[in-house]
Amino acid sequence: MSTSFTIPKFQKAAIVETNDAPLKIIDDFPVKQPSELAPGECLVKLDCSGVCHTDLHARNGDWPLKAKLPLIGGHEGVGKIVAIGEHTQESPVKVGDRVGIKWLAYSCLDCEPCRKGLEQSCLNGRYSGFSVDGTFSQYVVSWVSHVTPIPEGISSAEAASILCAGITVYRAIKYSNTHIGDWIVLPVLEEDWAILPSNTGKEKKDLVMKLGAEKWIDFKETKDLVKDVVDATDGLGAHAAVVAAATSAAYEQAIDYLRMGGNLMAVGLPGHGKLSADIFFTVTKSISIYGSYVGNRQDAREALDIAARGKVKCFYVVKPLAALAETYEGLEKGTVVGRVVLDMTQ
Ligand SMILES: [Zn+2]
Ligand SMILES: [Zn+2]
Repeated sequence: MSTSFTIPKFQKAAIVETNDAPLKIIDDFPVKQPSELAPGECLVKLDCSGVCHTDLHARNGDWPLKAKLPLIGGHEGVGKIVAIGEHTQESPVKVGDRVGIKWLAYSCLDCEPCRKGLEQSCLNGRYSGFSVDGTFSQYVVSWVSHVTPIPEGISSAEAASILCAGITVYRAIKYSNTHIGDWIVLPVLEEDWAILPSNTGKEKKDLVMKLGAEKWIDFKETKDLVKDVVDATDGLGAHAAVVAAATSAAYEQAIDYLRMGGNLMAVGLPGHGKLSADIFFTVTKSISIYGSYVGNRQDAREALDIAARGKVKCFYVVKPLAALAETYEGLEKGTVVGRVVLDMTQ
């Protein structure tokens, strides 16, 4: 397929060579040329890419599953399709379309998880910035079947902040069996639900309250987090908890502050950590525990659509690609407030 875009031979990219080597930003990483794209592949020129804690885990080799090396991280990219592989059949997207690149880069759509709508757990899945090169570069190769069309009414930086964290929380809430007016404990906000975030730091509190949370509990300041949550939620406890925290304690506490019939949604991906739940109270309180892993293509579209209609406010800071290493440091120390979105056009 021909293209009207001029595509350079080389690009700027952040490369992880080994898990303990410093991150390297180079400007002579080759760009896959349109003639080299396989059928079904597309080349996306990125506007920006969000930085996620997962990128840090991949970079450090923290998980039981290891990322490919050398690696270009990043899985919250937004940009324009500048080329589509020759002989691509029935592409749902075209050259010039604005699309998102999310964590799930590719799924086979034919294995049992895929057929059941759990393509994010595909037996043949490929992951951006993990098993295939991601979005901390100016150009990225993806698949026409799996890029996410970005609706109008949302900036690329906003869309980038939705593409991972937003989709993940959206899906967890969608499957949490909660209703309007129910209490959900989580560190991110969604409208139409009464939200009770628990996190730490004045800056985070100010942001969360400004975004419309009803109550805030600082886990470092509270003497008894469980009691404070129960007190804040009609004295009965929350209907659901969407737990992204990397500590086992956060899961144990959730069992304690959930009300009867409450749902615990596990969404964080810590490198290590066991989910430990008191069996007696899990049974007698009729608690359900679910693993909710990012989101499928439908969840992605729904989450972006909600944001494009102005129902979700994103808080992000735009920085150059050169700020990636310091962003990782900030994530390690827990000092990053909101999303850092890297501008890939500079
Ligand atoms: Zn992520
Ligand atoms: Zn599959």
